[in-house]
Amino acid sequence: MTRLDDDFEPAPALNYVPRILVVDLSGDDGVALQQLAVVMKQPIPAVVHELIRRAMPRQNGHVGYKNTCSSCGKEYAAIRRAIPGKRSYCSDCRATGEPAADRARDYRERKAKERQ
Ligand SMILES: [Zn+2]
Repeated sequence: MTRLDDDFEPAPALNYVPRILVVDLSGDDGVALQQLAVVMKQPIPAVVHELIRRAMPRQNGHVGYKNTCSSCGKEYAAIRRAIPGKRSYCSDCRATGEPAADRARDYRERKAKERQ
């Protein structure tokens, strides 16, 4: 019995880094990429290059830190170490506006103390 893939030979392993990358984008991805290009003031290939660079492990082996969210208490991955004594938030809490809510709470507490 012949198999459909009998005619195919595996491609030889590349001994060079390819210079062209073909990426299949959805419509939303394409729009997001165009918006990023505007925000970063870079042409789209440069934006793709930067996104790949940021997604790669660091060359010095640094992979980031595990910080604890000041709001929900969950651990999250971060590039920088949390500063002791300062609040840090996970992306979920940032999205729901926890940092601003905490700042507003602090402000009300300070104002309440001033009135005493
Ligand atoms: Zn959180």
